[in-house]
Amino acid sequence: MSKIKVKNPIVEIDGDEMTRIIWRMVKEHLLRPYVEMQTVYYDLSIEYRDATDDKVTVDAARAIDEYGVGVKCATITPNQDRVKEYHLKQAWPSPNGTIRGILDGTVFRKPIMLKNIPPTVRTWKKPIVIGRHAYGDVYKNQELQIPGPGRAEIVFTPFDGSDVVHKPIHIFHGPGVIQGIHSTEKSIRSFARACIQYAINAKLPIWFAAKDTISKTYHAYFRDIFQEEVDAHREQLDAAGVTYFYTLIDDAVARVIRHEGGFLWCCMNYDGDVMSDMLASGFGSLALMTSVLVNPEGKMEFEAAHGTVQRHYYKHLRGERTSTNSTATIFAWTGALRQRGKLDGTQEIMAFADALEAAVIETIESGKMTGDLARVSVPTVENPLSTEEFIFAIRDTLEQKLAAQ
Ligand code: NAP
Ligand code: MG
Repeated sequence: MSKIKVKNPIVEIDGDEMTRIIWRMVKEHLLRPYVEMQTVYYDLSIEYRDATDDKVTVDAARAIDEYGVGVKCATITPNQDRVKEYHLKQAWPSPNGTIRGILDGTVFRKPIMLKNIPPTVRTWKKPIVIGRHAYGDVYKNQELQIPGPGRAEIVFTPFDGSDVVHKPIHIFHGPGVIQGIHSTEKSIRSFARACIQYAINAKLPIWFAAKDTISKTYHAYFRDIFQEEVDAHREQLDAAGVTYFYTLIDDAVARVIRHEGGFLWCCMNYDGDVMSDMLASGFGSLALMTSVLVNPEGKMEFEAAHGTVQRHYYKHLRGERTSTNSTATIFAWTGALRQRGKLDGTQEIMAFADALEAAVIETIESGKMTGDLARVSVPTVENPLSTEEFIFAIRDTLEQKLAAQ
């Protein structure tokens, strides 16, 4: 069989631990035999990030900006334990944070739904996609523990020499704590635009929610800017049949639990952080959660939402059998291939991405799955496959599909 040719390069970002092992297997058994592709390769293993003083991460992000499509393996975000474990020069920042910052992107997470892996929430029939504004708020805060009585205030000093603004926060009569947070108009607009882009592509209704009844300036600012962007893109949204719905965050949460799904839930940073974990476990497994970073110009980086699966990696190093689920990693590749195909106008590569995704789904639905899914599958599965066996089972299904075409 002749291989399908990918016209333009994909930026390939390698990573760490168990996901690095899976990465190699997926390429060797599920991609290379069928597609001829050129990748622009960046090694974001913790060792190489350390060796390059993290310059490789910046280079990788710039490459995505240049080529438009990237695919990323999970990477270690070093803490002090990792600094010791890998003898690092320092605890380098989160690569995802660095890449997100450079691309000015928004992260969208979408669960893969399978017939035999029912969501914990029985009303959920279609995926609920989360778009998380990944800038500012409590993640870039300034905090202060208050030792005793005193006055706390917000101060803004304009650079144009106009009057300094003071706003009281609280008069403390005893110990306490305060926090200052911020966001920027630019970043909120980018977030809204990325959400609109995604919703138009995926033809999904948009939901946005904040706590604007309480936070009449901060949260209301988000609500107003989002609305402005929706108004500015009204024609495109209408043409794609995409609706916009704003509600209070409490109301959104209550609705999500009794909704059948099939919409894009745009979230402020903290809501997105917390709610994406709730959705991931509610839909079955972290290994079924896909993730894509989309920037306002439509540049995309695909990845699995889970981490490097460190516990399984240590088992692997001890020579023990592992049962790590490669589904989200495979979908990161198919997502990137499909987007590349879309940009290049190559139908065959998009069809291959569809076939590989269908092969993964059919394999799992036929009862061949890894341990994480076997635990929640209906009917239950007694003998979960190993990491390799699962990939080979997918390859067999794919071979049958391709032969039938
Ligand atoms: P994790 O790698 O997501 O794994 C947590 C647990 O979830 C695993 O121990 C495993 O449970 C289960 N799990 C996750 N993915 C799985 C898969 N594909 N197949 C089967 N089970 C899976 O999170 P972590 O252990 O907290 O983090 C490990 C490293 O990943 C950290 O250094 C962190 O910095 C990094 N991280 C990277 C990213 C990223 O690059 N996007 C995201 C998150 C974390 P059992 O052990 O019960 O089987
Ligand atoms: Mg979280």
